[in-house]
Amino acid sequence: MTHPAQPKASHFINGEYVEDTAGTPIPVIYAATGEQIATVHAATPAIVEQALSTAKAAQKEWAKMTGTERGRILRRAADIMRERNHDLSVLETYDTGKPLQETLVADATSGADALEYFGGLAGSLTGEHIPLGEDWVYTMREALGLCVGIGAWNYPTQIACWKGAPALACGNSMVFKPSETTPLCALKVAEILIEAGAPAGVFNVVQGMGEVGGALVTDPRVDKVSLTGSVPTGKKVYAAAAEGMKHVTMELGGKSPLIIFDDADIDNAVGGAINGNFYSSGQVCSNGTRVFVQKGIKEKFLARLAERTGNAILGDPMDEATSFGPMVTENQMNIVLGYIEKGKEEGARLICGGKRADMDGYFIEPTVFADVTDDMTIAREEIFGPVMSVLDFDTEEEVVARANDTEFGLSAGVFTKDFTRAHRVIGNLEAGSCFINSYNDAPVEAPFGGVKASGVGRENSKEAIKHFSQVKSVYVRMGDVEAAF
Ligand code: NDP
Repeated sequence: MTHPAQPKASHFINGEYVEDTAGTPIPVIYAATGEQIATVHAATPAIVEQALSTAKAAQKEWAKMTGTERGRILRRAADIMRERNHDLSVLETYDTGKPLQETLVADATSGADALEYFGGLAGSLTGEHIPLGEDWVYTMREALGLCVGIGAWNYPTQIACWKGAPALACGNSMVFKPSETTPLCALKVAEILIEAGAPAGVFNVVQGMGEVGGALVTDPRVDKVSLTGSVPTGKKVYAAAAEGMKHVTMELGGKSPLIIFDDADIDNAVGGAINGNFYSSGQVCSNGTRVFVQKGIKEKFLARLAERTGNAILGDPMDEATSFGPMVTENQMNIVLGYIEKGKEEGARLICGGKRADMDGYFIEPTVFADVTDDMTIAREEIFGPVMSVLDFDTEEEVVARANDTEFGLSAGVFTKDFTRAHRVIGNLEAGSCFINSYNDAPVEAPFGGVKASGVGRENSKEAIKHFSQVKSVYVRMGDVEAAF
């Protein structure tokens, strides 16, 4: 019997499901059991061509609609997503392995927030009038044209919506390529947009590996590329986009600092560290994986952290009591286990976890290392799994310098009751998305993105509009034209 997660076909182009079985088969594995639940096929060159030419053709008419009309469609799509939240969350859990407890509140709901928010903004995208005596300049905020979205595997619904919603609100069309690891959810987003009234071809999904992504990025018809992925992939895609002088948004990896001063509320700080390291089993780009704890509260913090981490419930992700799921793939599990071994070898003190869980699926116990030093591999490289490194510090000046000593700059957090210090520290940290007495909140109203190697551009908020549109300026002369000859 066909598994309920099996999509009707691999791709969604021009308003319908499309198949081409000549493409390389991509198995979809449920991470909690290792069982194959679906198969899709990578896009062949013919499928890529179909998606790009369709999206190119659909964009002009879409951009001619009023922003309010486009926005109404996006908001309708948001309503449908919310109505179907349960089914979409189950699919997200099959796609990623993340527990239903999380997917019910963080995936389709976050996607719906983006569709609603950018749907609301769509009618307000205007230019300005710049008076110059009798003459004037007016500006128009125009769509970029055809956009390509490329997603990572940790939030397949959310990433499709965070890219698709602002792109469509501005009058662009999109071809979206999910990660080959999680190909299912974006197809549902495409289906729902059509149901909500989006014209065929405005939002298309094609499957495939990096090769398909590469073909999309280098196509001369494409005006913008928005990627969520790792820094090495980001560098490749950014360079390819630059060849064609295309706009880019790069949402890449991190090794973010979470700084806990000794006046912090310990339970809130422990809660922040748990949210910033173990949500989605640590597969979150903005995670605060370098937890700097001031020496005065170190042992108290570690004791409370170990106690609360022991309350994580590993198990069937479809059981809403489960609070901690598996790694997305066996490969990712092995990469993370490799880092855990490195941590042990390099002399970090294991506080809890530290091994694969004794159960089916790709589960790793939530792991905390203490006495981590800045030069250890686990403190320098992005692990993308449930491995928290706790480092000690003495002074504010010292911790800020150490926190900034990394190529990454996605996020940063500080826990302290001293608000003057909190704002000063955040002001001195090199990061794009920051938190005071909290960690990892990502409301659609707030800009999201990194500095340094963690990325270029911003998603969400009004900032995203700037990255999916461009300004045309028009000089209007009221009098005669003076010329030298
Ligand atoms: P990858 O960088 O491996 O892949 C990202 C996407 O790019 C995938 O769809 C991949 O396809 C595609 N791709 C790979 N090579 C190319 C290429 N040459 N041209 C075009 N597309 C290409 O990242 P992961 O999927 O492993 O995701 C994990 C990474 O994503 C982490 O580093 C994490 O930090 C980052 N991330 C960043 C976020 C942010 O907003 N800043 C949020 C979430 C994750 P395929 O995998 O199918 O081959």
